[in-house]
Amino acid sequence: MTETLVPFEDVLAAYDPALGLEVHVELNTATKMFCGCPAAFGGEPNTHVCPTCLGLPGAMPVVNGKAVESAIRIGLALNCDIAEWCRFARKNSFYPDMPKNFQTSQYDEPIAFDGYMDVEVDGETFRVEIERAHMEEDTGKSTHVGGATGRIHGADYSLVDYNRAGIPLIEIVTRPILGAGEKAPAVARAYVQQLRDLIVALGVSEARMDQGNLRADVNLSLSPKGSDVLGTRTETKNVNSFRSVERAVRFEMQRHAAILDAGEAIFQETRHWHEDTGITTSGRPKSDADDYRYFPEPDLVPVAPSREWVEELRGTLPENPVERRARLQEAWGFTDLEMRDVVAAGVVEAIEETVAEGAAPQAARKWWLSELSRRANDAGVEITELGVTPAQVAAVQKLVDDKVVNDKLARQVFDGLLAGEGTPAEIVEKRGLAVVSDDGALSTAVDNAIAANPDVADKIRDGKVAAAGALIGAVMKEMRGQADAARVRELILEKLS
Ligand SMILES: [Zn+2]
Repeated sequence: MTETLVPFEDVLAAYDPALGLEVHVELNTATKMFCGCPAAFGGEPNTHVCPTCLGLPGAMPVVNGKAVESAIRIGLALNCDIAEWCRFARKNSFYPDMPKNFQTSQYDEPIAFDGYMDVEVDGETFRVEIERAHMEEDTGKSTHVGGATGRIHGADYSLVDYNRAGIPLIEIVTRPILGAGEKAPAVARAYVQQLRDLIVALGVSEARMDQGNLRADVNLSLSPKGSDVLGTRTETKNVNSFRSVERAVRFEMQRHAAILDAGEAIFQETRHWHEDTGITTSGRPKSDADDYRYFPEPDLVPVAPSREWVEELRGTLPENPVERRARLQEAWGFTDLEMRDVVAAGVVEAIEETVAEGAAPQAARKWWLSELSRRANDAGVEITELGVTPAQVAAVQKLVDDKVVNDKLARQVFDGLLAGEGTPAEIVEKRGLAVVSDDGALSTAVDNAIAANPDVADKIRDGKVAAAGALIGAVMKEMRGQADAARVRELILEKLS
């Protein structure tokens, strides 16, 4: 079924979007939220389990102190208030991947609440208000076997792996984000991207979207332009890359507008995101009053972090990302526009590490922003998933600085890196990419070029130095690009002066 979509500009002319983001962060604690099982990713199915995370009768949970610490640090970094006293709650629902038939979560008493994060898009700052950040546990994982789509419909049987059940999660929920207008897709992306940067800086999670350490649910509604009543929302679940967050918001805006334009009503539901086709499809109905029969968890004591501890943790927070960017921009000497592009491309950390490996900031910017961003786009992956490391980029730039390769040849070194052909130096060797700055070989090539282009040579003899470009081009062609262009130019001018 193809959805009717309204062109994006037309959506904006008639409607105001309201965004809401729910991000689940899987903490990198050694053990699970309420038991001593390892919280490591993967493992043979059902080997990281015990009576507590399998929900066997009589098993008693104990709160993971490290997870509470991480939750408080995330809350503080998001400018939240930290509860002086809060409890866990049972969220009752029945899924095969939830062995207890309830999820231990927090309901009306989250550990952190009333915060905000300032998000920058194209030099404009949007304040995203954080309603709450609460602690909960992850579910297990079902695999449906035999169906064509991997979905439960049409499957012959299903397997359940409880290794993930009970891994600590923090769910961060925003208040409705209003007034973003045409920038709504970009604001959603920037928020998730900046939140990820913060989580990584805090060191509380690997925060890899591709591994599901960080999962975003995107809520969207439209209201008629100028109206202050929020429209009916849909919730697109588990959007798994920054790029997709942006695409999902844009798609839902266009889809909602088509339904509203036709005089029909939006159906409040969850939606599935399809990475390959860039569309969402209907999931399950969701009312605001889903009856999970929440009640305080009787097997766990309340969490009451002392104010001294909270202040101690405040002292461990990393530099605020906005201030950090300003500091890096200053240190790198980037213009506002350059820094904005770098931030939008999500390569601040990559450049920082490349510079730390010895490359000049502008060189690092050039490779990450032009060459590698383009390749990531072409491949449809995040730049961090491209497989090229900051150390490798610095090594390629070192080869350029040492005049072993020029910029053009350096691009072929990146080809080799992406193809897994070894270190930059090995690739230069294997592919025979080193530029020739040996004057003997260059001199012969220059002589050939002069002999083949007598008119051009005459012009240069007459002082028209700009004409040298044509001869340099001829020499580069003969040398198959592997010549030091600056040295070629010098030789031409020496010979024709
Ligand atoms: Zn366990």
